[in-house]
Amino acid sequence: MDNLDLNMLPELLLPWYRENHRCLPWRETREPYHIWLSEIMLQQTRVEAVKGYYARFLAALPTVEALANCDDDALHKLWEGLGYYSRVRNLKKAAQVIQERYNGQFPGEYDAVLALPGIGEYTAGAVCSIAFDLPVPAVDGNVLRVFSRLTDDPSPIDLPAVKASVRERLAAIYPKEAGDFTQALMELGATVCGPNRKPECGSCPCRKICLGYQHGTAETLPVKSPKRERRQEDRTVFILQCDGKYALEKRPGKGLLAGLWQFPNVAGHLDTAQALAEVERMGLRPREILREVSRKHIFTHIQWNMKGIYLEVAEVSGGFSWFTAEQIDAQAALPTAFRLFWEEEERDV
Ligand code: SF4
Repeated sequence: MDNLDLNMLPELLLPWYRENHRCLPWRETREPYHIWLSEIMLQQTRVEAVKGYYARFLAALPTVEALANCDDDALHKLWEGLGYYSRVRNLKKAAQVIQERYNGQFPGEYDAVLALPGIGEYTAGAVCSIAFDLPVPAVDGNVLRVFSRLTDDPSPIDLPAVKASVRERLAAIYPKEAGDFTQALMELGATVCGPNRKPECGSCPCRKICLGYQHGTAETLPVKSPKRERRQEDRTVFILQCDGKYALEKRPGKGLLAGLWQFPNVAGHLDTAQALAEVERMGLRPREILREVSRKHIFTHIQWNMKGIYLEVAEVSGGFSWFTAEQIDAQAALPTAFRLFWEEEERDV
């Protein structure tokens, strides 16, 4: 594509976006805190699922100040089910920086936003363009896909150099309606030129400049580098109960699922004798194994193959925190890997 064609992108996309975009709660505001929150949530979750989380989060923490001062367990609870808990911890850290360094006012400059904890180039671009109309692109997987098709470029879109080049070429054509243009690109990449299906070129406003469409290559794009194999890890998870209470413990403050609640668990798949010995080692007296179930959970680079053992013990001890079912539901943020076992239990509670 030559530059002249790419220059036409804003004039083709903006009217289409204004006519066709989906009405979403975070599109009815220019409040940077709201846009930032929605962008972080949308990085990991479908739009429909985000709506509820977004509304609950803002009802509980309506301002940056409230977020900066909130209790960690309450924060994790608001995020429960979304995964990637480091993102919500960074939200709080960034809110604290905004409170301390900017007197509670969200900074309106790209470099200042980019310097906040947990905010990368994509999020900084999205917040700055949507909230402040700054001409900075927000390049995510959707935009990379659209761009690779528009330019008929088979370079793997996961390469940092490809992303940098897309960002640079887009920055050069940003119109003054920067927020709408960012959202138009996102919308095109989420709808007519969406992932994992045929692009709907027949209803695309960019058809006349799209080289992927003109060359018949759109469906073969984007190209990605071959995936690395996920590391497989076996774990045995203990759902220990006594008099209607369940043993939970906090994970270490650093590393995978840092600071979240979990059911006690150990590496490897233990057989019955080994499991009973392990529970005794925890300082508990096992009474009865109630059942066993197997579950898998996939993280970005690791897959946990988990054996869950539901076990009744004789007394509440062993250095754990013991929660009732109601307390687990109301207070303890269980990451999905462990919630799988809790949901199984709740069916019977
Ligand atoms: Fe995507 Fe087709 Fe539009 Fe090109 S014409 S941007 S391939 S939907």
